[in-house]
Formats: sequence, C-alpha cells, structure tokens
Amino acid sequence: MVPELVARLTALGHEVVVETDAGRAALIEDTEYAEAGATVVADPLPDAELVLSVQPLDRESARRLPEGAVTVSFLPTGLETDLVRDLRDLGITSLAMELVPRISRAQSMDALSSQSLVAGYRSAIVCAGLLRRFFPLNMTAAGTVPPAQIVVLGAGVAGLQAIATAKRLGAVVRAYDVRAAAAEEIRSMGAVAIELDLPTLDGAGGYAREMGEERAQLQRELLAPYVAAADGLITTAAVPGRTAPVLVTRSMVEQMRPGSVVVDLAADSGGNVEGVVAGEVVRIGHAQVWGGRNVPAQMPGPASRLYAQNLVHLVTLLTDSSDGADGAPSGALSLDLDDEILAGACVTHAGVIRHEPTRVLLE
Ligand code: NAD
Repeated sequence: MVPELVARLTALGHEVVVETDAGRAALIEDTEYAEAGATVVADPLPDAELVLSVQPLDRESARRLPEGAVTVSFLPTGLETDLVRDLRDLGITSLAMELVPRISRAQSMDALSSQSLVAGYRSAIVCAGLLRRFFPLNMTAAGTVPPAQIVVLGAGVAGLQAIATAKRLGAVVRAYDVRAAAAEEIRSMGAVAIELDLPTLDGAGGYAREMGEERAQLQRELLAPYVAAADGLITTAAVPGRTAPVLVTRSMVEQMRPGSVVVDLAADSGGNVEGVVAGEVVRIGHAQVWGGRNVPAQMPGPASRLYAQNLVHLVTLLTDSSDGADGAPSGALSLDLDDEILAGACVTHAGVIRHEPTRVLLE
C-alpha cells in the first residue's frame, strides 16, 4: 500500500492497519501511513480480516491469521505448494493477483501488466546504462555518431515498454514476437518488426503458445544475425506457467561485438538467454549479460504505487457497497465467487482449493 491510497480504503469503510516498516524498501516512512489515516503496528496479522501484500505470507504467518481471513498477494501456486495446502486447511481465502483474468473489466486490477510496465522500462534503462555508447544519433561539427542498434525479443507489455523507452532515448529498435498481432504493435511503437519465415504461435486468451524444439531451433538460427548485429539485446519472452523459452544460445551471444549488452528480463523464470544468472551480470564472449531478478522492485516507488492501485480496485470489488446502520460505509467484505474476476483469482476458499490446475497438481 502507499500512503496516498489509504484514504480510498477508509472511504470504503475499512480500518487500515500497516505493519511497521512495511514501506521501508519503497522509501515510505511509517509516519506517512499514520498521517494518511492508517494505524501502524508491529504485528497486524492476528486481527486481520483482509491482508494485502506483494509476496504471499510465509507459512508461519498464515497460521496466525483468524479463520476465514482473506489474503490478496502474488501467489505462485506451482511453487508455493505447502503454503497453498496450509491456506486450504486453515480455512483462509486466498486470491492470487497473477490469476486475475485479463478481461476488460479487470484491467485496473491487472498487476502482471502494471509490474511488466515497470520491468520493461527498467530493462531499457539498464541496457542504456551498461552500454558504453550513445543511444541516439548525434550529428556534431566533428562528425556523426551513429545511434545504438537495439533488438527486443518478446513484445508483450514489458517488451513494448522496453521498445518505447529505447525509442525515446533515440535508439534504432528492432523487435520480434511469436504472436500474429505483435508485428503491428511493434510498428506502432516506432520500431521495426522482425519478420521471420515461421508460423505464428497464438494460444488461448491472446497469449503465446509454447514452441516445439524444432521450431525453437529454427527461430534461433533465423534470429542469430539480428542478435549479432545488435549493440543491445533485451529479452522479455514468457509463456504463462512455464519456464521461459531459450531464444538465444551462448554461441549466439558469442557472435556479438565487443561492448555489447544483453538484458534478460526472464532470468527469474529460467532465462531467454543461455548462461544468464538472475541478479548478476556475467560475461559471455564480448557481451555483458544482465539477469533480471525481481526487476519491478528496482523501481519500488512506482511499482508500489501501481500495485497499490491494482489492490484498491480489487478491494473495492470485495467490499459490500451498502451503508451500515449508522449510514457510513459498512466496510463489510463480500466475496462473490460468481463474479468472474474473483472466481478466477481465488486459489483457496472455505477449506477447498478452487483453482482447478492447482487442485489437480496438489490433490
Ligand atoms: P508475457 O509476459 O506472458 O510474455 C511476453 C511476450 O513474450 C509475449 O508477447 C509473448 O507472445 C512473447 N513470447 C513468448 N514466447 C516467445 C518466443 N518463443 N519468441 C518470442 N516471443 C515470445 O506477455 P504479456 O505482456 O503478459 O502479454 C501477453 C498477451 O496478453 C498479449 O497479447 C497482451 O496484449 C495480452 N494482454 C491483455 C491484457 C488485457 O486484456 N487486460 C493485459 C495485458 C496483456
């Protein structure tokens, strides 16, 4: 939560309690929450009816919640299997922000998009920072300095934001994505769409499908000359629920020129670039290869503000809008699991795992 949005929650009838130092990593002081109308306490969990956080609670914290409490956070169910079983057994209702359906009505709650926006911007800035040359063309009395050549692989929310940011800094940008609609979106950002002689890979819900190994190999061969010619390469390709596809092999990076930079936003989920290490810069051939780890947290202020906005919209959906006996908003929670958004985001409720793929995995 950010202090400026606390009033939006109190206006719904909620009493907001913030854990001591909750905003520290985003440079927000406890006093700012208090001035905004929240109470700051060391241990808010035992009395909490609704817990909002970025990461899921740990198992011990979950055990200290009252039965029937509702948690809202990112919750990677495939990784947090013990926690999900605990939440089920404790009768906790858990909502996962990454499971909010990507339908028009839920756009204001789409935390994947808001955090990808931050990560995409950051990836271009990191690339510009590591690259020891200009992004823009410079025409000076002494002569012309050519612009940097940037290649972006994966043009979803993060990739498009990386393209837009690199363009604003003046680079020449080329980009590739496997989805049919992507080429037009790439061009609308002012970049050149790389068109490969390969079928597109459109899956359900506007997402990409996973590549077979034969296609992956062919794609890598066709992309190799673009990678070799790039000063900066930014990779953002993901397939929901899977490890990231390897788009660039070590030998492709070895073809890059001295001083070139690779920024892999998918490093946390295995990486698009062979040999990448999340949270580190490694050298492959002549290139510095930067592996992103929890990249939105590197811009904690904007990331928190956007995430808090997503949360406020979700909490509004979770709150009974009728007034209490005193005429003020009651702030009562009402979890309508017939609502498509809440049904989609709900992992556990009333002792049951409601998210079918997770239930199949765990039971
Ligand atoms: P993502 O983070 O899941 O993946 C990033 C990009 O990588 C995607 O564009 C994907 O097509 C691409 N990719 C996957 N495999 C690849 C490969 N082998 N080679 C190259 N690129 C590859 O994507 P995202 O940002 O979440 O967006 C995915 C889709 O969801 C897009 O169609 C986007 O428009 C859509 N979307 C819809 C909404 C909404 O309706 N509310 C919100 C956000 C995104």
